[in-house]
Amino acid sequence: MTVDSPGFATTAVPAARRQGAAPSRATPIYLTAGFEFDDFDHAADHFGTGAGFGYTRTGNPTVHAVERQLAALESASEAVLVASGQAAVVTALLTVAGAGDHIVSSTHIYEGTRGLLLDNLARLGIETTFIDDIADADAWRGAVRPNTRALFGESIANARNDILDIAAISGVADEFAIPLIVDNTLATPFLLRPLEHGAAMVVHSASKFLAGHGSVLGGVILDDGRFDAATAGHNAPHLVLPGRGGLPSVAARHGGNARIAYARESVAPRFGASPSPLNAFLIGQGAETLGLRVERQSRNALDVARWLSAQDAVESVDYVGLESHPDHSLAAKYLQGGHGSIFTFTLSGGLDAARDFVESVEVFTHMTHIGDVRSLVLHPATTSHSHRSPDERDVLGVRPGTLRLSIGIENVADLIADLARVLEPARQAVA
Ligand SMILES: *Cc1c(COP(=O)(O)O)cnc(C)c1O
Repeated sequence: MTVDSPGFATTAVPAARRQGAAPSRATPIYLTAGFEFDDFDHAADHFGTGAGFGYTRTGNPTVHAVERQLAALESASEAVLVASGQAAVVTALLTVAGAGDHIVSSTHIYEGTRGLLLDNLARLGIETTFIDDIADADAWRGAVRPNTRALFGESIANARNDILDIAAISGVADEFAIPLIVDNTLATPFLLRPLEHGAAMVVHSASKFLAGHGSVLGGVILDDGRFDAATAGHNAPHLVLPGRGGLPSVAARHGGNARIAYARESVAPRFGASPSPLNAFLIGQGAETLGLRVERQSRNALDVARWLSAQDAVESVDYVGLESHPDHSLAAKYLQGGHGSIFTFTLSGGLDAARDFVESVEVFTHMTHIGDVRSLVLHPATTSHSHRSPDERDVLGVRPGTLRLSIGIENVADLIADLARVLEPARQAVA
């Protein structure tokens, strides 16, 4: 403090200014809106080149550390962390598409993403064609138009637990020099890394398994760093043409990382869904135990699914870990170390049985969330999928008696005891 006798307020505000770095082993939380410039030229240089840290919406050391951690887990070249999974999907799609462009998407996607495509992106002039039979590569190929800018799907889809054949569908994307973007939220990089199978971009809701404890929202966009201006530039003029004021193109400045650089420079900070450094820290801390949790959750889920499929009150169980699931053998190609913890099952007692179930379970929490350390249950037909027609719900495997489970890390005997109490024959008979 160079002022001789500063007033109370002046004394109060400069706390921790230029605090020296201590070798913190845990990721330090830089909970700050901005960063002090060394001098006049440093500020000019930061605004000119984007190097270093100036303002937290465009870059923050805590956020950056978590981006590097998640990129390493997904075998990605780079990652951009944003405020929610929805922000990640928006950022990825607006990185590749603009007005007049077209996207081909799986029908079997998160309802928020479907609404984004049908309502918001449609209003911005981006049209989507949906594919019901995602295993049919010809259906994807046939839907591609000259203005198609990306294929989009989920690695493991809710509600039927279908597996996207990433190698086959990314092969279709390659034929047209466009990226396959995979939402890998349900599989997590512990079970599956889509970029290793040919996908070009990956998105996650980090609110789910990555953070893992149901306390924060976040999202991440990851890229393989293999954008090729020579072969794909005609599908991405915004990456290969010079920028405003004669700035060299994004591809000229960032090469193979042009897509993710554009997401970082032009999409994420402008649309403004910046993550809080505190939330970034919690996502990074969660990701440290991702493998332990998902391994345990997958084991628990398989035990619960097997137990459910042996019950009279249960009509069907859609869990890809069961041999009876149509994609079980495809899962062997893509999933390592388990089959995930989210699946649906259908009670033969229909809507009434489903209502009784969600109101009677005690270890399970009735909540619209997934990928939590706690086991959760939701009735899709009256909640997440209530805006679909009965026919559409049928295609998606959502019937009146269908319930979605997200299995947590609890002792599996306690989960099964909770289910047994609710589904026991005596109770079903009187219900
Ligand atoms: C939850 C979810 C999203 C949206 O993520 P938020 O963090 O809730 O914004 C997107 N995709 C999938 C598959 C999800 O489960």
